[in-house]
Amino acid sequence: MSALPLVFEAPRRALPPRHLADLDPAARRAAVAELGERPFRADQLSRHWFAGRGPEAMTDLPAPVRERLVAALLPPLLARVRDVDCDDGATRKTLWRGHDGTLVESVLMRYPDRSTVCVSSQAGCGMACPFCATGQAGLTRNLSTAEIVEQVVDAARTEADRGGRLSNVVFMGMGEPLANYGRVVGALRRITDAAPHGLGLSRRSVVVSTVGLVPAIERLARENLQVTLALSLHAPDDELRDTLVPVNTRWPVREVLAAAHAYTRTTGRRLSIEYALIRDVNDQPWRADLLGRLLAGKLAHVNLIPLNPTPGSEWDASPEPVQREFVRRLRAAGVATTVRDTRGREIAGACGQLSAAQGAASVPPVAAVPPAAPPTSGLLPG
Ligand code: SAH
Repeated sequence: MSALPLVFEAPRRALPPRHLADLDPAARRAAVAELGERPFRADQLSRHWFAGRGPEAMTDLPAPVRERLVAALLPPLLARVRDVDCDDGATRKTLWRGHDGTLVESVLMRYPDRSTVCVSSQAGCGMACPFCATGQAGLTRNLSTAEIVEQVVDAARTEADRGGRLSNVVFMGMGEPLANYGRVVGALRRITDAAPHGLGLSRRSVVVSTVGLVPAIERLARENLQVTLALSLHAPDDELRDTLVPVNTRWPVREVLAAAHAYTRTTGRRLSIEYALIRDVNDQPWRADLLGRLLAGKLAHVNLIPLNPTPGSEWDASPEPVQREFVRRLRAAGVATTVRDTRGREIAGACGQLSAAQGAASVPPVAAVPPAAPPTSGLLPG
């Protein structure tokens, strides 16, 4: 069992230098004007950056202007350390290094009908969930808005390069998004704002996953963003949830579900409940029945995740028949239920397995991209 403390405030480590994507459109124009350039240049620069184009492709900007703006507003943020593929190339995990050496990971997953990137919002995590590799590693620092968005821009460009299109973004990588609230909301705006101000992805295809920070859920409901909320419940009773999701000691099941349902009422978005099935820990029939009673009649669906065992943990996924019975009972209670696939398992890229320290040490050098020196942004050569 975890004895780690809950950490809400990230250590005051330096964030990367200011980047175009940290700013809203008005602030971008002001920043460009301060550099002595015409404000519309901000839109040109934005259109290129969100489309994943490097400086050499920004041909509508005169070379001296381009140089000045790129130097001032597009500092290198995340350098690609390596890509690791699995599932016959349908899943790719990327390890990134920040300006200060911080390591984070993102995972791109291709399906026949969609393509989803799972992004990190913090380096590490302070929420201390004992079954999660990131939670066990502790919190290093928050990511900036631009660092979060860059993971999405890179995935979108990767998909475009192979004739596809990135359709979904899930905040299910490293970190607790709602503990890095302002920067995550900034990232949500950049991801969903139309060009030239952002990537223009549909709000409905963006999912923010949280352990359940109630005041932040209430605040998110008022942002008029309409992204989907996923709540990591993992137990329907406080006694067990206090240990599986330690933040439950602050905001118990009843309170967090009330906040999540209120979010659904405000946004119209169906609530997603995440529940990692852990053998003999939270997979008993009575817990399925209790969960069914809590959710019956609500606009919610349950996403069961077979536990991905993490190094050093004695916990394992529930056996198939137990999983099937859990699903059957929830459905019998009228609750929509699905079982998540387990993409990325053999590259430690599946849910809860992201842990950059371990990733850096143990990922085999297949398809490895050597770290560039000096470090460059994953997008902007030089
Ligand atoms: N901090 C956010 C996002 C984290 S990861 C949150 O907790 O919601 C996204 C999901 O993966 C969460 O539901 C998390 O509880 C789950 N998860 C973590 N470790 C896991 C593991 N080892 N196996 C299966 N799911 C896991």
